[in-house]
Amino acid sequence: MASAPQSGDDVFDQFLADRGHETEPVGWDRSYNKLQCPDCMALHDEAADDCGVCGWAPN
Ligand SMILES: [Zn+2]
Repeated sequence: MASAPQSGDDVFDQFLADRGHETEPVGWDRSYNKLQCPDCMALHDEAADDCGVCGWAPN
């Protein structure tokens, strides 16, 4: 069955493509002059690269 389609991969690619269209690049939320993690709502200074609480990082 060499010609069997890899339907699993196709579905996964389609899933990623759909997600890519629906989801904007994720960044920090803003709360006053702080950065807020959209995942766990922890507040961080402007200089934060990632969330020290849950490990989330903007992409
Ligand atoms: Zn977090």
